[in-house]
Amino acid sequence: MASLWDYPDFDAHEGVHLFDDPASGLRAIVAIHSTNLGPASGGTRFWHYADGEAAITDALRLSRGMSYKNAMAGLPAGGGKGVILAPADRRKTPELLAAFGRAVDSLGGRYVTAEDVGVGEADMVAISRETRHVVGLPVKEGMAGGDPGPTTAFGVFLGVKAAVRRALGRDSVESVHVAIQGTGSVGGGLARHLAAEGARLTLADADAGRAERLAAELGGRAVAADEIMTVEADVLSPCALGAILTESSIAALKVPVVAGGANNQIATPGDAQRLHARGILYAPDYVINAGGIINVVFEYLGDKSRADVEAQVAGIPVRLEQVWAESAATGDPAAVVADHMAQRLIGRR
Ligand code: NAD
Repeated sequence: MASLWDYPDFDAHEGVHLFDDPASGLRAIVAIHSTNLGPASGGTRFWHYADGEAAITDALRLSRGMSYKNAMAGLPAGGGKGVILAPADRRKTPELLAAFGRAVDSLGGRYVTAEDVGVGEADMVAISRETRHVVGLPVKEGMAGGDPGPTTAFGVFLGVKAAVRRALGRDSVESVHVAIQGTGSVGGGLARHLAAEGARLTLADADAGRAERLAAELGGRAVAADEIMTVEADVLSPCALGAILTESSIAALKVPVVAGGANNQIATPGDAQRLHARGILYAPDYVINAGGIINVVFEYLGDKSRADVEAQVAGIPVRLEQVWAESAATGDPAAVVADHMAQRLIGRR
């Protein structure tokens, strides 16, 4: 059995906390990667893992990702992640959530939690009865916080516009053809912003009816989910799954730009290089999709309005420009440049 220090994803994490509460059945991990810029912020995932090692690996990897994302978003926040190991029957009881709330509270504000896969707003409300270090709670109209999807979609829209400006030399997306994979909260919101500015849309979703309905509403075209990655367009915007940029899919791309909201789009480090070698402009996913985390970190800061959130989201294209400029200057792929920039920001490089 490897020690924590020997896990491949261990990256000088400041703390990895294991919680066990037999009374409620809670087993959870809170990994704090860095608090250099502020309290470690990142959602909590409720997932049934094959074993404890898989859960620890996920917490280590995701918490480092949050350090990078928060730093690149210019937030006064570090990176952390909570993982609750779902019991075999996947039951999330009030007692289990309360125990997790006490676990978060015991860290004294070094970690601030929010929603992630398998954890919703009602769970955050339950957790908030035990700790104040929680966001993603219902908020008053006009204030920061609430559903992160629309804010993420708006940030991705600004990022797509920046990519179009850089790669195609166009200030507007009018008549620019964007192929969107996944028309859920982020992809659907992005499609609406693009349509409002006159873009041409090709949409796909695993739920074909969802893409068809949106295409009919916005005047775009829907294609089958397995066709979207090879559509000839100006921009491919992945807004569904991770690990979709692989050796074979990159070879088949017919776009000069990849810019979308899905997390972890690049399958392996070699694929970042392959994308770069094909001359495709890539918007690093955790830079372009930071709108949601900006929204919730601003909720934690307390006195922030929607207008404050939007002003911070407007920094996303600026940061992307910095990444692309450094990529052009160094010859390194944009994904690698973003990691290096984030590491510098958190004092790790
Ligand atoms: P969502 O569940 O609302 O939408 C995802 C959509 O993708 C669904 O309609 C689903 O049917 C579709 N889909 C799944 N597999 C597909 C496939 N193979 N081909 C085409 N479509 C497929 O989720 P979301 O909140 O829009 O998130 C989308 C992506 O953005 C995820 O990778 C998520 O991690 C990332 N993200 C979301 C946020 C946010 O604020 N919601 C923030 C940062 C990153």
